[in-house]
Amino acid sequence: MSTKRKAWMNAFKRSECACHICSDNESTVQLYYRGKTGNEICDVAESKLRVICDDCLLEETERRPPNEQALLHELGEHFSAQDINQLAGAFAYVNHFNTLQHMPDVVMSALSWAIETPEIQKRIVDDYFVWLKETRNQTLK
Ligand SMILES: [Zn+2]
Repeated sequence: MSTKRKAWMNAFKRSECACHICSDNESTVQLYYRGKTGNEICDVAESKLRVICDDCLLEETERRPPNEQALLHELGEHFSAQDINQLAGAFAYVNHFNTLQHMPDVVMSALSWAIETPEIQKRIVDDYFVWLKETRNQTLK
């Protein structure tokens, strides 16, 4: 069996044929990697292959550009170029050094929840200020 075929079979086994986005295990699923499916996927590490249902595939392909535009619009309306650069740097950092301790979709859901929940957002910002103060104090010593 080819390496590619083995990777594909392991991805299906790992997913138990449930969509990795919505967990639906009754719809037809297929392999997916960054907008590509089936034979369009070449030389992708097994750990990066995802199994996805048709509805989520539509979201990830045809409906993705409007979602990306909405994000850019919100960032552009309310945040400075420096803020956007910091955010991009944070995502680049976690992707480059693979520091995520959970699947990216879990982290993104948790971050959205934290941002949308005022008490959580306040706690994070308060912790940030404590960290900032400690960091500055260490720098001044
Ligand atoms: Zn799905």
